[in-house]
Amino acid sequence: MAATPLPLEVRNIKKRFGDTEVLKGLSLKAHKGDVITLIGASGSGKSTFLRCMNLLEQPDEGDLIVHGEEIRFKQTRHGREPADWKQVVRMRARLSMVFQGFNLWSHMTLLENIIEAPVHVLGKPKKEAIEQARALLERVGLSERADAYPAQMSGGQQQRGAIARALAMDPEVMLFDEPTSALDPELVGDVLKVMRDLAAEGRTMVVVTHEMGFARDVSSQVIYLHQGLVEEAGPPDQVLGNPQSPRLKQFLAPKY
Ligand code: ADP
Ligand code: MG
Repeated sequence: MAATPLPLEVRNIKKRFGDTEVLKGLSLKAHKGDVITLIGASGSGKSTFLRCMNLLEQPDEGDLIVHGEEIRFKQTRHGREPADWKQVVRMRARLSMVFQGFNLWSHMTLLENIIEAPVHVLGKPKKEAIEQARALLERVGLSERADAYPAQMSGGQQQRGAIARALAMDPEVMLFDEPTSALDPELVGDVLKVMRDLAAEGRTMVVVTHEMGFARDVSSQVIYLHQGLVEEAGPPDQVLGNPQSPRLKQFLAPKY
């Protein structure tokens, strides 16, 4: 046994929707400080894979081990479900997810968004949560926007706010699903900057992205998915710099 458990391990996950098998056996191992990027065409299963990692989708087969703790499942007539939802709540507190958009609760200010889970899930004293939230807002460059509502903020500010909210739970692994793809191009850089900072400080991250510059610069591993299978995986200079699969070559080729 290793002294410190792996933050996240996924073994041979399979998932079908109706008659279509969208994940055909996917595995991944995240060591502390790894940044794993998932790339692939639309529909290749990237989001489903990520959603299976924190059980927003229930994998039909395969194992999920979070911080050394294997998630237990049971078979029901609806399919496979977690055997113990308390365990799921515990594991979700270790993994936090940032989606493409619509992350923040619209009826709360940014500060209220950030303190919500620390106060109500972790039971942190409110004063402490507010102090922590202000420090996080400073880190993502949003000190001035603490009292703004999401609708008053740009998409890029909302995304940075969503990252601050995820960080407030001090997650062991951060999962990102195309966090910049709904943003106007001029707002992408600020969000990527925050993510690069997180990578540089040794955060463990799994990131679905189309930002190849980001993938090349910060990934420890790049995984290229095609139709629910790993087509190619490895360090970025190999996978992005010297791709072997013709499909991946085509995927990476400049479009125009
Ligand atoms: P990606 O994120 O790579 O674009 P997705 O994981 O979103 O791919 O989707 C993979 C496949 O699974 C697609 O064919 C998609 O239509 C299908 N799919 C995803 N979610 C559902 C769902 N809830 N019900 C039925 N099919 C789904
Ligand atoms: Mg997707």
